[in-house]
Amino acid sequence: MAGAEFFGAEERKEVNEVLDTGILFRYGFDEARKGMFKAKELEAEAAKFTGAKYAHAVSSGSTAVTASLVAAGIGLGDEVIVTPFTYVATVESVLLVGALPVFAEIDETLCLSAEGIKAVLTPKTKGIALVHMCGAAADMDAIMPIVEENNLILVEDAGQALGAFHKGTSVGLFGKTGCFSFDFFKITTAGEGGVCITNDEAAYNHMAEYSDHGHTHLGTNRGMEDHHIIGTNFRLSETNAAIGKVQMQRIETIRNNNKKHKAILKDALAQIEGITFRHMPDPEGDSATFLNFFMPTTKLSQKLMAQFAEDGLAGFNYWYTNMYHFINQWNHIKDLKSPNKLGIHHFGAPQDYNKLELPKSNEVVGRLISLGVKANWPADELEAFKNQMVASIKKVLA
Ligand SMILES: *Cc1c(COP(=O)(O)O)cnc(C)c1O
Repeated sequence: MAGAEFFGAEERKEVNEVLDTGILFRYGFDEARKGMFKAKELEAEAAKFTGAKYAHAVSSGSTAVTASLVAAGIGLGDEVIVTPFTYVATVESVLLVGALPVFAEIDETLCLSAEGIKAVLTPKTKGIALVHMCGAAADMDAIMPIVEENNLILVEDAGQALGAFHKGTSVGLFGKTGCFSFDFFKITTAGEGGVCITNDEAAYNHMAEYSDHGHTHLGTNRGMEDHHIIGTNFRLSETNAAIGKVQMQRIETIRNNNKKHKAILKDALAQIEGITFRHMPDPEGDSATFLNFFMPTTKLSQKLMAQFAEDGLAGFNYWYTNMYHFINQWNHIKDLKSPNKLGIHHFGAPQDYNKLELPKSNEVVGRLISLGVKANWPADELEAFKNQMVASIKKVLA
């Protein structure tokens, strides 16, 4: 869980500062707030850490995906290539902006593969909602030429990859817009929250204005006098922002700890015949929030999950034991269930989602085991986890 393991005096102090002024709103009240703009400070931390020119904080990772799509110009009737392996929020946001998801195959990077993207690319393809799954970047060297050659709009949902880089560039900066989540389970948390990043000034203005009813946001000044665009309220509260700001200041420590702990577990796993690992195009850039490995077959991964449960170990397989991250669990999306009419009901789905064939993704996700790496892991507990993990796997592979 990373960030949630680290609540301390600093978080309490920042939250109390907000409560002491009573100004829980991120804009205005300049005198009463005594110079404190926690959301703005969180944005500055996020921009500094990622190297983005602009960052805009919002109320969740999900609203961050939506705002990123809108600001990048994805909308009604646009066909957008998506992954079948992500937190379901990515696909929800594509649908909510009126666009039409086109599912493509992933590979052992756990992200959309260049081959998968090429296989579904048509003249109607408007963009890609690329997800950097499980804390590390997709294969950007292979994907970016496709984006450029086909003039696609790339939006990066890095909801679970803050702290991940590809050859020195933060995820979220390859596309027109990108975003992160600060929900309770992410590498840094604000309780709820998210942030969009971009190097494009127009896209920044749009994400900021869209998230605040279209009020003008030129630079960082909010003007009430005019509405540039139609928008909504995705604002982050100052109390959440106060926590998120401190957590952003902890991210280097969290990532370094993650890396140390993950290496210990991975070294132990590497000794076991039959175990292979998630392919990482840039292992250095890993945020190390997850240790992902493959069992030789889907059957054996299922058996291992049962063994883990018996041995009291936490770990999951996105095919069997986790309800939100793989398309085999998304019947509501396949059946286009919605209380209201969406773009997809009007235009029709670009694929028959109930008849989709994704053999590679099925095989990858079926064999995949994912372990959460703790950042605040006492050495003796880590050692005990490692030993039990190795023993459980050996029992299953014996
Ligand atoms: C967590 C997550 C989201 C949604 O973030 P929330 O803050 O929970 O709304 C979106 N996309 C991905 C890839 C995520 O992991």
